[in-house]
Amino acid sequence: MKLAARNAHMMGDAGNGWAILFRAREMIAAGEAVTMLTIGEPDVKTDPAILDAMDASARGGNTGYTDIAGQHALRAEIADRVSARTGLQTRPENVVVTPGGQAALFAAHMALLDAGDSGLYVAPYYPTYPGTIRSGGARAVAVPARPECGFQPEAAALDAAARTSGAKTLLINSPNNPTGVIYTRETLEGVAEVCQRCDLWLISDEVYETQVWEGAHISPRTLPGMAERTLVIGSLSKSHAMTGARIGWIVGPETAVEAVHQLAINTTYGVPGFVQDAALYALRQGAAMEARNAAPYRRRRDIAARVLAGSQAVRLIHPAGSMYVMADIRATGLTGDAFAARLLAEEKIGVMPGESFGAAAAGHLRIALTQEDGLLEAALARLRAFAEARMP
Ligand code: PLP
Repeated sequence: MKLAARNAHMMGDAGNGWAILFRAREMIAAGEAVTMLTIGEPDVKTDPAILDAMDASARGGNTGYTDIAGQHALRAEIADRVSARTGLQTRPENVVVTPGGQAALFAAHMALLDAGDSGLYVAPYYPTYPGTIRSGGARAVAVPARPECGFQPEAAALDAAARTSGAKTLLINSPNNPTGVIYTRETLEGVAEVCQRCDLWLISDEVYETQVWEGAHISPRTLPGMAERTLVIGSLSKSHAMTGARIGWIVGPETAVEAVHQLAINTTYGVPGFVQDAALYALRQGAAMEARNAAPYRRRRDIAARVLAGSQAVRLIHPAGSMYVMADIRATGLTGDAFAARLLAEEKIGVMPGESFGAAAAGHLRIALTQEDGLLEAALARLRAFAEARMP
């Protein structure tokens, strides 16, 4: 019996990244002391007060089917938060709740792209992006952002890719995983111009919006002419250390929100009510709880900058946000894949090779800031020494 061809299309292009991760996990299972700086799993656990809200909701009886687009109170809370933070009036009808940011990314592309259409995404990229775009039969087209331009996407490259491919959508991510870069106003204005000139929908993945260390997070939905063509992806995974709760959302025009609602009727049938109540509690704690969750990553970003300062072998891409830093190790003569494999084998430190985020990040490493400060500092010092010993 044959399976659908789509299964193969959903595979990402992560290359050796998964191999490193799985090997590191095997080593840990075998009792080896590996310092894991691989995936974006917060080392801090969900705040017990959020769990209490979840427990109270479930025990209070919110265990049945829920409103499939999301409970009204949560949609209203998300809409108010977006209105307050962006200055753009947003209503509950502009919000649909999803089981995490990943489901939101999938739903957005399903709502906007037909089979055979093309969707653009910027590289380096979060590894699910190409598979997500291809899931519904669309073509995924990478547009590289170059290290020489600080990994800021260039309007001319986006424009050329949109015209050549006839794309209908563009997916961007700022603060960015894997680079830790925040897109400037100029970059986002360039993105907005291309979207309008080439009639693209913009899907703006803003799941790291609370992890901004320099400058400001600008949601491109707020730029002139963009609200009617932008879907913003949000999530509580990183902002509130709720990766396992699976809760996120899309904010966009009502027609697109309604399309995602229809998709949810046919797929997830909504998000558990007690998880939504926990999310409502979390969001109502406001910026203070978010700042508490973000603080360790900012501190560790500073540790990474200090430990790697002045190294010719490991050059940090200036990290302005997110829970990662990216380092250029091309001077060692090793590929990111080879460096990461040897670092794991010889130093028992797990990092992700840049190649697992696309060729645009070849010769780089992504280091997740997800270990406590002392352990991180020691691992980075060893990583630096390892790289410097490999300099030709
Ligand atoms: N987008 C980006 C850029 C991510 O890094 C992640 C997770 O690491 C997600 C989306 C998905 O997050 P979640 O589905 O946990 O909300």
